[in-house]
Amino acid sequence: MSGPISTSTSTPHVSGAAAGRVPVLLPYPFGEPFDYSVPAGLALAVGDYVRVPLGPRETVGVVWDAPQSRDSRIESKRLKAVAGRFDAPPMPAATRRFIEWVAAYVVAPTGAVLRMALSSTGGLEPPRASVAFRLGSVPPSLKRSHARERVLAIAADGLARSASEFADLAGCGLAVVRGLADAGALVAVSVPPRMPAADIDGAYPGPALAEDQQVAADALVAQVGSGFSVTLLDGVTGSGKTEVYFELVAAALRAGKQALVLLPEIALSAQFLQRFERRFGTRPALWHSDVSSTQRRLVWRGVAEGTTKVVVGARSALFLPFPELGAIIVDEEHESAFKQEDGVIYHARDMAIVRASIEQVPIALVSATPSLESIVNVEIGRFTKLDLPSRHAGASKPAIELVDLRKEPPPRNRFLSKTVIDAISETLARGEQAMLFLNRRGYAPLTLCRACGHRLRCPNCTAWLVEHRFHRTLLCHHCGHAERQPETCENCGTADSFAAVGPGIERIAEEAGALWPEARTILLASDTVGAGMGAGPAALDEAIRKVQAHEIDLVIGTQIVAKGHHFPMLTLVGVVDADLGLAGGDLRASERTYQLLHQVAGRAGRAERPGRVLVQTWMPEHRVMQALVSDRRDAFLRVEAEERQVARMPPYSRLAALIVSGADQAQVDQIARDLAKAAPRSDTVQVLGPAPAPLALLRGRHRRRLLLKARKDVPVQPLLRAWVDAVEIPSSIRVQIDVDPYSFL
Ligand code: ADP
Ligand code: ZN
Repeated sequence: MSGPISTSTSTPHVSGAAAGRVPVLLPYPFGEPFDYSVPAGLALAVGDYVRVPLGPRETVGVVWDAPQSRDSRIESKRLKAVAGRFDAPPMPAATRRFIEWVAAYVVAPTGAVLRMALSSTGGLEPPRASVAFRLGSVPPSLKRSHARERVLAIAADGLARSASEFADLAGCGLAVVRGLADAGALVAVSVPPRMPAADIDGAYPGPALAEDQQVAADALVAQVGSGFSVTLLDGVTGSGKTEVYFELVAAALRAGKQALVLLPEIALSAQFLQRFERRFGTRPALWHSDVSSTQRRLVWRGVAEGTTKVVVGARSALFLPFPELGAIIVDEEHESAFKQEDGVIYHARDMAIVRASIEQVPIALVSATPSLESIVNVEIGRFTKLDLPSRHAGASKPAIELVDLRKEPPPRNRFLSKTVIDAISETLARGEQAMLFLNRRGYAPLTLCRACGHRLRCPNCTAWLVEHRFHRTLLCHHCGHAERQPETCENCGTADSFAAVGPGIERIAEEAGALWPEARTILLASDTVGAGMGAGPAALDEAIRKVQAHEIDLVIGTQIVAKGHHFPMLTLVGVVDADLGLAGGDLRASERTYQLLHQVAGRAGRAERPGRVLVQTWMPEHRVMQALVSDRRDAFLRVEAEERQVARMPPYSRLAALIVSGADQAQVDQIARDLAKAAPRSDTVQVLGPAPAPLALLRGRHRRRLLLKARKDVPVQPLLRAWVDAVEIPSSIRVQIDVDPYSFL
């Protein structure tokens, strides 16, 4: 860590236990702060970011207000000293309470949660001023070119602009601007950096809302400034939920507060930003894994200073140090992507509710297919529900039909039924767009030897290797292991004997290419955006733009195309394998399949032209399929709820999982058995397992699961802590605690 450290004494001092020492929480897996001594002349306040020694290194920490630190018995003079204080606004008390609360709930060390809040330490330094240019005195001898004239005409208003701003406005190169500066016609001035989303205006006029939108928006707006509340905004796809929650953002801004909008990572598209910009006249600050470190530093700083007013981000944005939070929105609240599955395991929607409660602000959960958890919370009166029952501007809901694959099975090694093929042909003939949806990347999920039946599997995981023909590799979707397809079978030695089994979207694209050779087709998955367009958010944004601009006739994609996009000319959606998500023993398999298929179906017919959705299934009688065709979501959820209630499963009980993993199978089994013996047992708590996790081998580690199931009113955290503490865990074994598990892998 380097950089300017303020040693000024301007901050009024408040400090920990005794004078001359402070407890400092470090972003490492420690449960409590350590004490440090405070050198003379350095005044520290609770929440201050400081630089402290830790072993041979220096680290950032936060002055904490713990009642008791682990070092309280160490004499002050034997403590290490704080090395300096960062010139940054202190971490607000509500943020600190939130960090502690999350740590306690997910049974993680407080320091590990702090680490998520300190993911961009660059923001601790005051941002540097940047160089801008304004009109100087133009020397009479200046050589005049068209480009130079344009720049000078723009500069005539006397405002300072960056070189690239001038270049953009004048449509010239940076060299032109630099040339003018060298000649003295422009002079360099130093300007403070512009913080992202600093001047968003809550009074900026929005669109006229439809009547039911207005009712919902008014109800949300009324919550601002009235403390904590949770509202479920439940509206069909295309009903205009986004415009409604933008009103909540606007109301928070008008109250002088900041707002946070959480989205699943893949929904953070250019399209969303454009909509935001249309509503507010400027862009929000962005926070997700692909944001550059320079930008993150600015956003973090802007948020901490209270100048950045609106952050739109993925789940980690929840840990930003907002001093003036006024409202939180969680869009697509049912999405399992809000559950972070590694490191600190937490559910961002649930923790967002906690944050709203600590900050005493309203939170809106938004979805067309709310989670059962949220629906139940509405029923028991904990959440308020607002409905948007119809599509905006009278667009009709798409008609959903099931295609019974038992009645019309596609030919061998083909995957599209005649019904789907005919419908796509008709759609394309009308000059409209079609989409084929299959939630599986690659070419084929399984490769086997025709001679001996040998299947190609990942050496590190309990998983088949997925063929990716486009990249010419076999890939493990769990650990990323990649290999070339072998020429001979390693089991029987037969050459060229491998056969692809089942479809991934690449294989559907191959089938579509043969059926509609003239159609402009694009493949969209997280790892493949079009052919040769590369991957990543920019490529995806470009692909989405092409689809919107009707430069594409047929879209073939995974769940990446299911979310939020608005394609006015898309009138037909074909679901290749609707049963895909129903396999396996996942508690929420039906619920999730319904949500995903409903979402995909919602892509069809979002404008004037009516949409049609064809769902291929081997199980047309399954209640998920029946709920989809009859559009009876609430009846479906009621049955789902009853089943969970009978089985005493969430949301009618609590679950927590322990996952024991290690390289040595015998040792993993031993520890899992020891944990089973030490398991808490009572008439309100039950422990199941150990059982091999479905991915019994993952990244070369053997895995066993134990599942704790408790009555809803039992606080499970103390039980979990005591349980894990009761068994000595060798350092070669990892025990992960997952409170409220979502993934049963
Ligand atoms: P949802 O999020 O509920 O699926 P959207 O918010 O995406 O629905 O709205 C669907 C479409 O209708 C979008 O193109 C949106 O811009 C448009 N829209 C929604 N409300 C309005 C409004 N009040 N005025 C103009 N356009 C609107
Ligand atoms: Zn693997």
